[in-house]
Amino acid sequence: MVEFDLSEDQEMMRELAREFANEELIPNAEKWDREGIFPEEAIDEARSLGLLNCTIPADYGGLGLSFLDEAIINEELGRGDPGFATITGVTMLACHPLIYGGSEEQKKEYLGRVCQGKISAYCVTEPGCGSDVKSIETTAVLDGEHYIINGSKMWIGGAGYADWFYVLARTGKDKGHDSLSGFIVESNMEGVEVGKKEEKMGQRSSDTRGVAFRNVRIPKENIIGREGDGWLQAMISFDRSRPMLAAHALGNARGAMEEAWRYANERESFGKSIFEHQSIAFMLADMSTKIECARLLSYKAASKLDAGERATLESAHAKRFAADMGMEVTTDAVQIFGGYGYSEEFPAARRMRGAKIYQIFGGTSQIQRLIISRESNKEYVQSVN
Ligand SMILES: Cc1cc2nc3c(=O)[nH]c(=O)nc-3n(C[C@H](O)[C@H](O)[C@H](O)COP(=O)(O)OP(=O)(O)OC[C@H]3O[C@@H](n4cnc5c(N)ncnc54)[C@H](O)[C@@H]3O)c2cc1C
Repeated sequence: MVEFDLSEDQEMMRELAREFANEELIPNAEKWDREGIFPEEAIDEARSLGLLNCTIPADYGGLGLSFLDEAIINEELGRGDPGFATITGVTMLACHPLIYGGSEEQKKEYLGRVCQGKISAYCVTEPGCGSDVKSIETTAVLDGEHYIINGSKMWIGGAGYADWFYVLARTGKDKGHDSLSGFIVESNMEGVEVGKKEEKMGQRSSDTRGVAFRNVRIPKENIIGREGDGWLQAMISFDRSRPMLAAHALGNARGAMEEAWRYANERESFGKSIFEHQSIAFMLADMSTKIECARLLSYKAASKLDAGERATLESAHAKRFAADMGMEVTTDAVQIFGGYGYSEEFPAARRMRGAKIYQIFGGTSQIQRLIISRESNKEYVQSVN
């Protein structure tokens, strides 16, 4: 039987995350977004409450929770403020290659730093390529006891505050994924240049910048795993983080729905609340169904990861559906608020701007469809033959 009930511990985690979102995130989200404030104190508080570093093993200072636990918490963070959820999510994104393929020393040192409050960032995308990860041009050349890294990365979440970067670079001459390798680069190393903060449409509290690496010499021990392991590391990080991005997107959508639902009961037109106009009530009903679907997909992908299974297809389903659904639901929420929905004085507009990025980062909705079609094709071709 499929079990839909959460455990008592999971209910408590959800309640804790919800309270934190109600008290710290929702009251501040508008100011952080308007002024582009990176909320360091709130990050520290979330960490001390036990809401961050969920899937970092306890041996390295993390909470050692399951992916399902992480999804439950992340939905609440996304509801509180999607910008905040992104900030904390990108640090985990950079940790996954280490958790998967790092040495004991690397895990103790770099995951340990994150658990003590440092931020890490995931440097894969470049100015010339994002979706087409195999085409990256950043190089890492072995020179005695060091690798020398050269190249530029673009749109790196948390870059301005990061203590260390996960950097995907090319170690071989061929253009395939076999020549991609992952490295730890500390942000204070000579030749690391962090660019200006990007002016974004939404989630402006999250810090996004370009990072250039100019003849950066790193100890050769900073390679994660072996040369050629980078592609798998990067893809595993996506598989593990997409259910969480889905949780953020559905949390943000749920926040928009809750706000619209309240407003629909307060606002009157033609002598009754707008909720009593069936087209508004049905819009809310559809929002609610879509959010339920996104949650189930996110939980399914997380549960598959918890079972130690490959979850590429399930993670892509969850991310694609939740991202597109989040855009629809937040757009409908703006509609329910009418003219006030278009005003930055109400949260609906900010939630809609914040929803858009889920269709772009962590692999666009088109790329998720590409993954879903390829993965499903394998399955269906096999079932026919
Ligand atoms: C705010 C923000 C934060 C980000 N954070 C990070 C981060 O922390 N680390 C990191 O490494 N990257 C990060 N990114 C980068 C993000 O992952 C990329 O922007 C994304 O993968 C898309 O790549 P691109 O921008 O190069 O678009 P492109 O790959 O150039 O795509 C452009 C358009 O073409 C479509 N397209 C491309 N190829 C195909 C195809 N084969 N089939 C169908 N359609 C296709 C895309 O879906 C898209 O609509 C971030 C981006 C943003 C905006």
